[in-house]
Amino acid sequence: MLISIVVPCYNEQAVLEHFHRRLDHHLATAPDTYEVLFVDDGSTDSTLEVLRRLAEQDARVRYLSLSRNFGKEAAMLAGLRGAAGDAVVLMDADLQHPPELLTRMVDLHRQGYDQVLARRTRAGDGALRTITARLYYRLVNRFMDVEIVDGVGDFRLLSRRAADAVVSLTESNRFSKGLFAWIGYPSATFTYDNAVREHGTSKWGLSGLVDYGVNGVISFNTRPLRAALHLGLTLVLGAVLYALWIGVCVLVRGVDTPGYATLLTAVTALSGVHMVMIAVVGEYVGRIFHEVKRRPHYFLKETHASTAAHPGPAVLSPPAPAPKAVR
Ligand code: UDP
Ligand code: MG
Repeated sequence: MLISIVVPCYNEQAVLEHFHRRLDHHLATAPDTYEVLFVDDGSTDSTLEVLRRLAEQDARVRYLSLSRNFGKEAAMLAGLRGAAGDAVVLMDADLQHPPELLTRMVDLHRQGYDQVLARRTRAGDGALRTITARLYYRLVNRFMDVEIVDGVGDFRLLSRRAADAVVSLTESNRFSKGLFAWIGYPSATFTYDNAVREHGTSKWGLSGLVDYGVNGVISFNTRPLRAALHLGLTLVLGAVLYALWIGVCVLVRGVDTPGYATLLTAVTALSGVHMVMIAVVGEYVGRIFHEVKRRPHYFLKETHASTAAHPGPAVLSPPAPAPKAVR
């Protein structure tokens, strides 16, 4: 069995050789054949040079380099498309996904599971991140049609057909956690102790995480729109009841002018609600806008197949059409 390991890398010069050494150490005793496909996601440090060197030294190593930073989702897609293995393992370059777990994953795959998910504990994470993550998963699972589990990230093995299924989903707003869950197939999960990043820095800032979170909720279903409808109906019902109540008061006590505070509160609260609803609709419209453009997810700049002496798109783009004959 050939197993492809796909590793997206963005500015990982500090850890790549370390990663390769540890992986190599593990693969030396592994029974299967492996290929390692690094995807350089437009790094601005010397990641690409390191990859070129690794590919020269190690016949199992292949790499793709994207024309700029397209984000981890795009890098993973490029890797999945390029992976030739009977099974594909997605792994981070920062050694937070221990290569030693590969054996276990492959064993479970042999038992017939199409997806093998490694679930990390949250040991070593900050308290704030742990709590927000917990809350987030609760919320998301209430809103989403597919279930995603806290601690299950992109570290997983996909069988050939599962990998093909993921690649066949062409949406440009890719939320992998959801996509992996959406394709289905039998899956097995095991837990491992979280490892903290040893070198380099995490590419996730707070705003990145928030964006990612919103993306997760919105890109998977239209339930927020349904929630907007429910909220709107509830407010309308409340307004009708309140109007009736005022009518009754007028009948019983006569006309009563005070009510400034109530009026203002109602006006501001309702306009707030409207804005939120419009924003929800806007998020979907924005997504449709992105999807209809049908842009490619990334461009390749260089691969292990294009020689280091002549890198660049000239090697990779399809041959130019032959000039038309002049009559
Ligand atoms: N990564 C990437 N493109 C990006 C950001 C990250 O390919 O735009 C890669 C990164 O090199 C690493 C993996 O995605 O291999 C996970 O990134 P990171 O460790 O920063 O995320 P965290 O583990 O903190 O969630
Ligand atoms: Mg990491």
